[in-house]
Amino acid sequence: MEAALILLAAVAAALALALARERRMRRGEDERCRRDLAEQRARREAELKEQSQRTSALFDRMVEGLIVVDAGGRIRLANRAAAGLFGFDAPAAGKTILEATRHHEVAAVVARLDRELEVLGHELRIDSMGAPRFLQVNALALRDSGGASDGAILVFHDLTRLRQLEGVRQEFVANVSHELRTPLSLIKSAAETLLDGGSADPATLVRFLNIIDKHANRLALLIDDLLLLSTLDSGGLRLNRQPLPFRDTVQDAIDDLQPRALARDVTLENSVPGALIALADNDRMRQVIFNLLDNAIKYGRPGGRTSIGGRVLPSGRIEITVLDDGPGIPKDAQERIFERFYRVDKARSREQGGTGLGLAIVKHVIQAHGGDVRVESAPGSGSAFIFSLPAATIPQ
Ligand code: ADP
Repeated sequence: MEAALILLAAVAAALALALARERRMRRGEDERCRRDLAEQRARREAELKEQSQRTSALFDRMVEGLIVVDAGGRIRLANRAAAGLFGFDAPAAGKTILEATRHHEVAAVVARLDRELEVLGHELRIDSMGAPRFLQVNALALRDSGGASDGAILVFHDLTRLRQLEGVRQEFVANVSHELRTPLSLIKSAAETLLDGGSADPATLVRFLNIIDKHANRLALLIDDLLLLSTLDSGGLRLNRQPLPFRDTVQDAIDDLQPRALARDVTLENSVPGALIALADNDRMRQVIFNLLDNAIKYGRPGGRTSIGGRVLPSGRIEITVLDDGPGIPKDAQERIFERFYRVDKARSREQGGTGLGLAIVKHVIQAHGGDVRVESAPGSGSAFIFSLPAATIPQ
């Protein structure tokens, strides 16, 4: 009996020990489980945070403005481009689209989505910080898995630059048409006069043939300049860069222009040092010098002097200066002088056979060489056209 009791007590004690161990193990496991769960949660939260940061960074890198609104019409997300377009000064999240953009037309696009589900290619003009901007908006209604409204997404494309370029193009086409029409109508009326009997008198015949010849030449010059500008614009001009003794290039242009210079008693002086070497396209550089000298002859003082000098700057760049002693160029005109068809005195330019494109070509060619050009002038004290070219590192 006693032995049985002792056995029972031993079994009970062993059972209690086993239970206690079991409980300890379970507690340990629970603890490990809890720790695992907490770690998993932290990892998931970090992943979500990183994902959301990556998404925001991606949205912020978009060129297009992006706004996402919730079903109540309040902003969930607006990227940096949208903030720039509409000038948000504070975070937009939580505001209505009207509060954030301050444009009824944008709010109206969101309202349209209730009926239309998507609005594509809607164009709007906004005033952004005092300047007009042209935007195109594409908007899409969002639906949740049950088909209920879940807000909308709006993408804004800034068309302002495109519109400006369109304006420049239209103005250019209008200018070209005008420039072509003027000599054409003079040629036409001279031909009509001759056909109407004007050719009977030899003196009249020569006078009108000269008019035809002069304006046909002007047309040819204009077309040449337009074609060259169009090649420059399209980046299609192949520059044949080679080490140029610049003094020789200048002398070639001077030789070509000598008859015109003599006709106006203008002295052309080549002061470019013989040792000055530029890495440039000879024909194009000759054209640049030709245009600048031609202008100095046309607009300079009859009996005046034009000189071309050159030097190597401390940076190694080459600087060329074309200096005349003519009437100079007014300050406000200096800023526009390199624009196509801009002339200080239209009548004077036309009378001199100018196309209004000479300086635009100069600027383009210099820039294609990696250089830049500017004008310095004071009315009454002549003009200096100064351009620089990259240092001539001559290939070995
Ligand atoms: P254009 O064919 O009329 O000469 P350019 O583009 O060469 O066209 O020059 C634009 C305008 O700049 C000229 O019409 C003229 O009014 C002015 N201009 C250019 N060079 C000179 C200069 N050396 N002195 C005074 N005015 C100049």
